Amino acid sequence: MNIVITGGAGFIGSHLCEFFLKNEHRVICIDNFLTGRRENVATFLSNPNFRLIEQDISKHLSINEPVDWILHFASPASPVDYNRYPIQTLKVGALGTHNSLGIAKLKKAGFLLASTSEVYGDPECNPQPESYWGNVNPIGPRGVYDEAKRYAEAMVMAYHRVHKLNTRIARIFNTYGERMRIEDGRAVPNFISQALKGEALTVYGNGKQTRSFCYISDLIKGLWKLMNSQINEPVNLGNPNELNMTDIAEIILELTKSKSSISYCDLPVDDPKVRRPDISTAKEKLNWMPEVPLEQGLKKTIEYFQRVQNVTK
Ligand code: UDP
Repeated sequence: MNIVITGGAGFIGSHLCEFFLKNEHRVICIDNFLTGRRENVATFLSNPNFRLIEQDISKHLSINEPVDWILHFASPASPVDYNRYPIQTLKVGALGTHNSLGIAKLKKAGFLLASTSEVYGDPECNPQPESYWGNVNPIGPRGVYDEAKRYAEAMVMAYHRVHKLNTRIARIFNTYGERMRIEDGRAVPNFISQALKGEALTVYGNGKQTRSFCYISDLIKGLWKLMNSQINEPVNLGNPNELNMTDIAEIILELTKSKSSISYCDLPVDDPKVRRPDISTAKEKLNWMPEVPLEQGLKKTIEYFQRVQNVTK
């Protein structure tokens, strides 16, 4: 197959590129390197099945070859990044999704949207099933991401209903692993880098807020199963193993054998208090569930950050 991956140089995008190249598909990666990185795709460049188009998908783009699937993964995705690039985040969720859908329609290709657990906002129920409509502050600092993704979902469903496009929506919960940017501001990279440097781990608020972390290889398998399904409605993909932020900081301290302390800092505005995916749909309809235990995934991620830090020293 010929697969277009927008945001292909990002964390999840680059793992998708790798997965499809390994399985001998052709990959056309579109990235403007706003938050994606050249290092993430450097080893693919010599592969004749890999093509890199350096462009912002929020601007019109023509692709002069057949396309079977478009996987729309372009977007700043960490709260620090989307606060830094609020307008680009809104544009890639709105215009970028529209442009990608336009390509899918023209090429008669399948389309998969990387949506997010952020569509649930600060949820009033835990865990969150796909049927929950969410509790989002449209004008808060997270609104630029949450509303862009909510709009993107609406746009995908409209293209599905009106143009009969073969679409999928993955609601991706917190995911971690190799090729995350160490300075992307999210909890796992922050804690690992702080622990490795002997700095205090910055836990926000009282550390009682929860998240559920999924290792990247599990997520990629789930996305592939979703592509191969016939489900046009959104599907949650994530690991239901829910932890609070103090717990995850302590686990990282233990795994890195770090002597760092924990320092409690201000909680960011609108930070969701709980988050845990209800993955009944993925289990029942995709026969998917995450398999990699947290410690195992974290060990691999820690090794990656150690390698990266040594290179940049
Ligand atoms: N967090 C933290 N310390 C950090 C970075 C994040 O305590 O250095 C908290 C953050 O407040 C949130 C959780 O960790 O409650 C997950 O944040 P992250 O930025 O990883 O992603 P989110 O799930 O909020 O999109």
